Amino acid sequence: MKRYSAFAIAREALRDHTGWDRAWRKAQPKKRYDVIIVGAGGHGLATAYYLGKNFGITNVAILEKGWLGGGNTGRNTTIIRSNYLQDPSAAIYEKARSLYETMSQDLNYNVMFSPRGVMMLAQTEHEVRGYQRTAHANALQGVSTEFISPARVKELCPIMNINGPRYPVLGALWQARGGTARHDAVAWGYARACSDMGMDIIQQCAVTGVSQEGGKVTGVSTTKGDIACEKLGMVVAGHSGALADMGGFRLPLESVALQALVSEPIKPAMDCVVMANTVHGYMSQSDKGEMVIGGGTDAFNNYTQRGSFHHAEETVRALIETFPMLSRLKMLRQWGGIVDVTGDRSPILSKTPLEGCFINCGWGTGGFKAIPGSGWGFAELMARGQSPLTDQFGLNRFSEGRFIDESVAAGVAH
Ligand SMILES: Cc1cc2nc3c(=O)[nH]c(=O)nc-3n(C[C@H](O)[C@H](O)[C@H](O)COP(=O)(O)OP(=O)(O)OC[C@H]3O[C@@H](n4cnc5c(N)ncnc54)[C@H](O)[C@@H]3O)c2cc1C
Repeated sequence: MKRYSAFAIAREALRDHTGWDRAWRKAQPKKRYDVIIVGAGGHGLATAYYLGKNFGITNVAILEKGWLGGGNTGRNTTIIRSNYLQDPSAAIYEKARSLYETMSQDLNYNVMFSPRGVMMLAQTEHEVRGYQRTAHANALQGVSTEFISPARVKELCPIMNINGPRYPVLGALWQARGGTARHDAVAWGYARACSDMGMDIIQQCAVTGVSQEGGKVTGVSTTKGDIACEKLGMVVAGHSGALADMGGFRLPLESVALQALVSEPIKPAMDCVVMANTVHGYMSQSDKGEMVIGGGTDAFNNYTQRGSFHHAEETVRALIETFPMLSRLKMLRQWGGIVDVTGDRSPILSKTPLEGCFINCGWGTGGFKAIPGSGWGFAELMARGQSPLTDQFGLNRFSEGRFIDESVAAGVAH
């Protein structure tokens, strides 16, 4: 595959852009692969990429029932941070954040990583104590965060009203190297690199069954026929329960819709990401000028990938005290994705009761930020049977009562 570079852009400009390669090949399924990954979202594609890059395993198919990146990966609000409370979480999220720093160079694809800083507002005394505790935990974990004063919050984000009557801003947990990235580009960049290594990305190919012999996985049935494999990775976010059902085991998670919306574009108004967890809302400004706004999950389980009016109203209402300028903005569009939420708000990266079958799910409302770290660890787990990044995230933690409780850090949509 030809490399993207300033020179390549200049060369193509001189010949009407006729020399670009397709970013990834259109593949048809072979009879057999060493590894099949189900789900061409960020986590599935990153897993395939690190299987090839770190372990030389390239006889890989990535099967996607829709179009690649069309699940939650292309629907999120792109917040990247690693200021989690528990050690195993901080390890995998910080690995991911550090990989984001060099992802554009690594993939030779501009993912527009923008470390503009993320602040999580403390708007109750309880939150002040909680975030101060997280800042101390982060210091011990080597994750760079700090608890900042209301005056510093105002300095970093002048459009904010920090003296609201109900929820005044009492401080914030600030991660200066957190930020955002272009979500589609993350999926496209990994897809291009996987295709370049000879892997097959097969879109419009839904997995409808999992075949097994003597307790070991042997392949999958799909809408494009049966395909055999040595190892199977299920990476389908909100549809994990359905896939696990095909494999004959159950998962401790629920699928719910999470929604987001954007305003009409306006001139630059804020250059950091703000999360207000007490009122359930978070906001950043896209490069196009739209205010990107996210709220909480639906209160009931469902598989509807769309937004609803009451959510748009509730989320904007929640934020308006802190961001009065929102009252003057028109909202442009809204959407939803199906997220997979576990009881302890931590992901599952694990072997399963079916030998050769692995599962990566449970990222819930906050897995975009984890994509490279998750792919790195899950590829190691699939290749070697063990990874220090995923050790604590096994399915066994639920039967052993060994939860990785991130409900304080991740209980809100983000
Ligand atoms: C509105 C919203 C806002 C969010 N905001 C943030 C945020 O700011 N920061 C953050 O870190 N995270 C955020 N998230 C969460 C984040 O988007 C997800 O955790 C992450 O994208 C999950 O990636 P994935 O690759 O696991 O899943 P997905 O991207 O959903 O990919 C799974 C793929 O599997 C495919 N699939 C399903 N079933 C089958 C089948 N039977 N056969 C073949 N393919 C199948 C699907 O079509 C899909 O493409 C948000 C999510 C939503 C919905």
